[in-house]
Amino acid sequence: MTSRYDEIAANLNAVIEEIKSATQSCGRKYEDITLVAVTKTFPVSDVHILASLGVHHYGENRDSDAAPKAAAVPGTWHFQGQIQSNKLKSIASWANVIHSLDEIRHIETLDRVATHRIGVFLQVSLDGAEGRGGALPSSLSALADAVLQSTHLDLMGLMAVAPLNVSSDHAFEKLAEIHGGFRASYPMATFLSAGMSNDFASAITHGATHIRVGSSILGSRPSPQ
Ligand SMILES: *Cc1c(COP(=O)(O)O)cnc(C)c1O
Repeated sequence: MTSRYDEIAANLNAVIEEIKSATQSCGRKYEDITLVAVTKTFPVSDVHILASLGVHHYGENRDSDAAPKAAAVPGTWHFQGQIQSNKLKSIASWANVIHSLDEIRHIETLDRVATHRIGVFLQVSLDGAEGRGGALPSSLSALADAVLQSTHLDLMGLMAVAPLNVSSDHAFEKLAEIHGGFRASYPMATFLSAGMSNDFASAITHGATHIRVGSSILGSRPSPQ
């Protein structure tokens, strides 16, 4: 029987090889990609395994699951889930980076409750609809201005999830275009968080600097999240 350690090590190696080949084929550097291992729903023992394998960026979607893991394992902890206002204070206590900000009121609340610096990505919707999937491109400058006016937040860049109904290449090409325009006004926003298990190679081709990979490393999750 393979141990959990061996299973995660083999999966991680395969992901790293795919990152290397994706960066090579578009003339980018492997070192420019930050791999965020999405540990949501997985036990803290898996996070310890990842740490021993040299992975120190972890991504979580739910505050209540993430807080005890982040307290147990040092590293860079990323929150990428849907934001509820009443959870922001707790999220701010353990998160180093938040990928899913898409409302001004959440940016203002986060800044008020934060006690350390937090890197933020603004989530942009790629399907033209506002709501669960991020802000419209036309709202980004107002959100960015709110981050720039904050005391504790650093504007890192944009984040997106490819919509289900279009090819990831098409979605990430559009994202790269939006990011290019955004950076013209906000030159500090150099990072791009895009790509999950099934589409991170495409995201890298289109400029992703942070990829958020869960199931390819840790296996399938018990319930969809
Ligand atoms: C769950 C999740 C991921 C990781 O998804 P996988 O398909 O398991 O790699 C990445 N980003 C977000 C926003 C997620 O919710």
